Amino acid sequence: MSSGFTIDFKGKCIVITGGNRGIGYAYTRAVAQAGANIAVIYRSSKDAEEVTAKVAKEFGIKAKAYKCDVSDTELVNKVFKQINDELGPITGLIANAGVSVPKPALELTHDDFIKVYDVNVYGVFNTARAVAKLWIENKHKGGSIVITSSMSSQIINQSALNESLAQVFYNSSKAAVSNLTKGLAAEWAAHGIRVNAVSPGYVNTDQTSHMDKKVRDYQAKAIPLGRFAEPHEMTGQALLLLSDHASYMTGGEYFVDGGQLIW
Ligand code: NDP
Repeated sequence: MSSGFTIDFKGKCIVITGGNRGIGYAYTRAVAQAGANIAVIYRSSKDAEEVTAKVAKEFGIKAKAYKCDVSDTELVNKVFKQINDELGPITGLIANAGVSVPKPALELTHDDFIKVYDVNVYGVFNTARAVAKLWIENKHKGGSIVITSSMSSQIINQSALNESLAQVFYNSSKAAVSNLTKGLAAEWAAHGIRVNAVSPGYVNTDQTSHMDKKVRDYQAKAIPLGRFAEPHEMTGQALLLLSDHASYMTGGEYFVDGGQLIW
């Protein structure tokens, strides 16, 4: 336990799914800056290895990118064991990878459902279980899992105003993952494993880039702080939850939304 309010992750190893771009990349940089070794899990981006190597060089830590679909059970178990051997022991996970299919409900297909739920719900469960298994088998106490949910676990986008905001599968998958956070926290508390969710409001990443300027400006007006967030603004809460400062925090969902849920 560190003294005062510093976050020092030297000697730790944190896995970040979707850590090569967007919010996940901001997590990768913040965790690297705090001194941890990092495993970045990505699905298909061609530059993920290069991006990860640059972060390792910049912050003087060990980091490696692992190409792995978070919804593939066998592969995830294998990759987590590999990370544990190569960079570990793993001490924390940020289960951040997520996808959305913005479409009006009448156009959504079963394939769209599988696409969204496989990553946003099963992928989070699958990676959380892989690391929990390692911790329980190895009698590692004090592991922390931080799940990226969304403010849309609580509210529906204003899709009545503009079709481009319609994404009922995404919103409902985030409600599911917020509930999953509580369930896993309850089951694994006896093993000293903490599970919490960080729920962003709108953040400027590829995921929000499809919104046209008019809709974006209108949405920004509905946020008390008056703007979308930048990815790095999500990192403070996640780092806190990964750290020993949060040793009595589990099963929580923490909103980083510019105040949007106030009204
Ligand atoms: P981006 O679209 O910018 O990045 C998504 C990341 O997830 C990429 O690194 C991608 O890897 C990875 N990924 C997607 N599918 C898989 C998979 N099957 N296996 C492994 N990795 C995968 O997303 P954001 O940064 O915007 O979002 C990050 C998280 O935050 C998501 O869970 C999202 O739902 C949530 N969120 C985002 C908000 C926003 O406004 N942006 C608001 C609220 C929540 P690759 O590059 O290889 O494709």
